[in-house]
Amino acid sequence: MSSHYRRPVIAGNWKLNKNLSEASQTARDLKSRLAGACTAEVILAPVFTALSTVRGALEGSSIGLAAQNVYPEDHGAFTGEVSAPLLKDAGCQYCIVGHSERRHIMGETNGTVHAKTKALLAHDMQPIICVGETLEEREAGNTLKTVLSQLAAALKDIDPSVASHAMVAYEPVWAIGTGRTASPSDAQSVHAAIRAQVEQTHGAALARSLRILYGGSVKPANAAELLAQPDIDGALVGGASLVAESFAAIVNAANQ
Ligand code: PEP
Repeated sequence: MSSHYRRPVIAGNWKLNKNLSEASQTARDLKSRLAGACTAEVILAPVFTALSTVRGALEGSSIGLAAQNVYPEDHGAFTGEVSAPLLKDAGCQYCIVGHSERRHIMGETNGTVHAKTKALLAHDMQPIICVGETLEEREAGNTLKTVLSQLAAALKDIDPSVASHAMVAYEPVWAIGTGRTASPSDAQSVHAAIRAQVEQTHGAALARSLRILYGGSVKPANAAELLAQPDIDGALVGGASLVAESFAAIVNAANQ
């Protein structure tokens, strides 16, 4: 496929970490470290309760705000849930969906990931759709089967012009929070397969423009090599995003 400029994206997933003062402090620290020109689109995903605080801390910067989860319905009798319009109202432009921790700990299915993706797109938000195989699936030779079926389910029946607001994050489950990273060439081959499938299902234009992030123990030491792969357009970063210095170093690796 012919190459096409895709702005790199570096997204930090703080998971269930940081109280309000810690979140505010890290966001301010990051903002000052990234005060100069930035090639990458930088995104932070704090816990729901810290969204407003982090939004305030990031004011005046171009760092975007993401939620870590969303409920597919807009409002109603859904105790404990938060919807896309409310996230947008809180200042989020992005939302992670289908993270492996939600699939494997909270029992999210391909069906719920699809419903959440559609709800976000309906409100002009940008879903970051996570896909990835477990170690068991990888060892059984089912990496592509798993990843591509998760992807197909998430984007099912979504018009390419609408799907163009989504991003995909390939996160091998065995590499998340473990210190193990897929080799750049292994990750590249899965990213290329994702792009090839999107070309088949949604056409060449979307396949060319779709940003596909890699996630799984990305750190300053391995970021540049991963980001240099032709189909790796950014990173979804967990542990290393909790410290402004290491997250900024990963952003700077994308700025090269
Ligand atoms: C993640 O949470 O999406 C992730 C990739 O975590 P880590 O970077 O800690 O492996």
